[in-house]
Amino acid sequence: MAANESVVFDYPPLPTYTLSPRPPIFTAIPDNILALILPVVAYWALSLFYHFIDVYDFFPQYRLHTPAEVLKRNKVTRWEVVRDVILQQVIQSLAGLVVAYLDPVEYIGREEYDVAVWAGRLRFAQRAIPRVLAIFGVDALGLASNLSKNGHTILAGALAGGHYPGVTQSLTLDSGLDAVVPAFTNWELLTASFIYWYLIPALQFTWAILVVDTWQYFLHRAMHMNRWLYVTFHSRHHRLYVPYAFGALYNHPVEGFLLDTAGAGLGFLTAGMTTRQAMWFFSCSTIKTVDDHCGYAFPWDPLQHFTSNNAAYHDIHHQSWGIKTNFSQPFFTFWDRLFNTRWNGDVRLKYERSREAAQKQVEQDASSAPAEETPYESAVISPATSTDSNARTRLRSKTVTLSPHVDSLKGVNHGVTRSVLHA
Ligand SMILES: [Zn+2]
Ligand SMILES: [Zn+2]
Repeated sequence: MAANESVVFDYPPLPTYTLSPRPPIFTAIPDNILALILPVVAYWALSLFYHFIDVYDFFPQYRLHTPAEVLKRNKVTRWEVVRDVILQQVIQSLAGLVVAYLDPVEYIGREEYDVAVWAGRLRFAQRAIPRVLAIFGVDALGLASNLSKNGHTILAGALAGGHYPGVTQSLTLDSGLDAVVPAFTNWELLTASFIYWYLIPALQFTWAILVVDTWQYFLHRAMHMNRWLYVTFHSRHHRLYVPYAFGALYNHPVEGFLLDTAGAGLGFLTAGMTTRQAMWFFSCSTIKTVDDHCGYAFPWDPLQHFTSNNAAYHDIHHQSWGIKTNFSQPFFTFWDRLFNTRWNGDVRLKYERSREAAQKQVEQDASSAPAEETPYESAVISPATSTDSNARTRLRSKTVTLSPHVDSLKGVNHGVTRSVLHA
């Protein structure tokens, strides 16, 4: 009888559970809809924050480009950027709605059971300990016996291969009889909880990030290797030579869907994330993308330091001389390092030249005949010499009405030269 019981309860029994649908965070909004709303809110909230910093020029010392460069070098107006970003967000939300519709309902209630499953796996893995120690000539059972005599029963149990005769629990069997059965130790349950609540989600996020980075690197690079792809789709994003936060998702709608929406969706689906994890993942990806285009190299922005990909790194890719390098986005740069597409060399002189050229253009425009003045030209003030931040603000706010050179970009090849295509 005792032998039979020890066979039946060789492992601690798993707890029973009852499933119930997961209640939404906000009763009025289903979680899978909230997962689509949050990235859009995050995009515009962070963009507005950076726009505020930009317009009031709070941190000129950390700017990657001067206001004169924003004015003279970008080939698209801010309103056109806003319009195309909204279009991309509408498409991404519609795609998300389709996935949300197909997604099964999420249930809660089996967390304790799942933690116990992990504890069971830990118990099973301990069986190998005596055999592994024997390879090194250690008599695990003898050691366990000595440790047990000295009161170290838990350590002794682990060394003996996961045998904890003193760790039991009372259980009412299906037959109605009460029985004393094995139980998990505290360390097993704590480790299992850590695996279930922290390690697995961390691995899921890492995997999803790797998927997005890999997807985006190869597609992005392909857009620079194939002339048709570049001209038809990707050249639009490169109208921004001086990126700013809300230009992050300024893309051709097809590129926006392929690179950003499909990439994030694939990361989410292959990582087996829950809807709540998706809220974090989509929002974090969006925030990182916005930050990579913010136009500032901030020493105190953690997002710019936890990986080597940041606004300064991606900004190089937006320059005519760096456009064939730094394809990695949005999180890490390992693909650029592996494929030797990372920009190497000093950039200070190159940035200086662009700054000076834009400044000269602004000054030339300011000194041109008043009759030819356009609204923005009449507001042009030398940003480098002016200390009046309001004047600078006026100068920048006028940029929204401009579309310099956009027409010249229309047509078959957008004036694409080989210099933008990666060999
Ligand atoms: Zn590019
Ligand atoms: Zn970009």
